[in-house]
Amino acid sequence: MLSNSYVMPTYARAEIEFVSGDNATLIDANGRDYIDFTSGIGVVSIGHGDNVLARTLADQAKKIIHISNLYYIEPQERAAKKIVEASGYDMKCFFGNSGAEANEGAIKIARKYGEVDGEPKRYKIITLKHSFHGRTITTVKATGQEAMHNYFGPFPDGFVYADSIDDIADLVDDHTVGVMIELIQGEGGVQPIDKKKVQELATFLKSKDVLLMVDEVQTGVYRTGEFTASQVYDIDPDIITLAKGLGGGVPIGVVMSAKKDVLGFGDHGSTFGGNYLSSTAAMTVVDFLNHYKESGALDEMIIAFSEKLEQMQKTHSDLFNEAVGFGLMRGLRMNDGEVLTKLINLARENGVMVLRAGRNTLRFLPPLTITKDEMNEGFKRLEKAIASL
Ligand SMILES: *Cc1c(COP(=O)(O)O)cnc(C)c1O
Repeated sequence: MLSNSYVMPTYARAEIEFVSGDNATLIDANGRDYIDFTSGIGVVSIGHGDNVLARTLADQAKKIIHISNLYYIEPQERAAKKIVEASGYDMKCFFGNSGAEANEGAIKIARKYGEVDGEPKRYKIITLKHSFHGRTITTVKATGQEAMHNYFGPFPDGFVYADSIDDIADLVDDHTVGVMIELIQGEGGVQPIDKKKVQELATFLKSKDVLLMVDEVQTGVYRTGEFTASQVYDIDPDIITLAKGLGGGVPIGVVMSAKKDVLGFGDHGSTFGGNYLSSTAAMTVVDFLNHYKESGALDEMIIAFSEKLEQMQKTHSDLFNEAVGFGLMRGLRMNDGEVLTKLINLARENGVMVLRAGRNTLRFLPPLTITKDEMNEGFKRLEKAIASL
């Protein structure tokens, strides 16, 4: 294994090197296999080593990988159509390369909407304290967690933080143009926000012409059982962002907006965004998952996974006080957050990869295509890790 002499030390990386994968199973350089309950933090939505995705990408790469957005990109238009249709919302798309970029796009749409939409000019965007919206200077400021605002200032103005969903309406004033929320906070601890409260907030915001911007970078692309969590919550947002699961591992992010033509010629751009390669990846993944959902296989898997988690919580109620989350974005809330890192490390030593979220949540984001055998094996290994705590 190479040392870290040339890469900045921004991550505490596990000393492990993966060399190949098949669906939810990974193989390391020593030939050991691992069950992957992380899918690269919700990215590898259709699993590792998918042959159809690999072949489609290779075929496209042999023709054209990249042209630039100065020309019509047919796969980009087709990917946008598939995304919009899968969501059921009447929107248009702008493609970038990551979640943070998608959220930057969302913020730009809102800011321009507030700028041109009469007097007074509106620019404030309300977000939640435990949110996570990205790592660029603007999205890190949009992220409500104080700890992320060390260094890097001065930051852009105009972000207002609400302690919880209950406080958002009171914070709306004449200068507020948008509210950006995750419906299930991912990094914040697999924290679903109350559905009824979100619906009431959506109605209130509509009455004030304040844009509801839903950050679905983690919840989107069937992670919570529907194409978007907004569909699960039965709301009608003005803006939705997607990224993690969309390209099956190929970097792509998208901001979709019901305010279809706020951004016009010259207002926004991206060199790589929606190029032939990433659009082809998104199309392939969305096609695959549409069928996977329609066949009933996704819902079946979600039920099986939920049962396992509930069972796990009951068997180990000394460790876990609650099973949380939706679809295949799940967590076990730990009684003692101090044990979490130790458990994650022991799990890996026992051949199963899991994540943390917030201070005390063991997080599960398996590939949506994980098989029951892989799932059962993963939980068996997690049991072993727990036994060795
Ligand atoms: C991961 C994540 C982001 C940031 O995505 P990047 O691709 O790392 O920029 C933004 N919002 C949410 C909700 C996320 O989970």
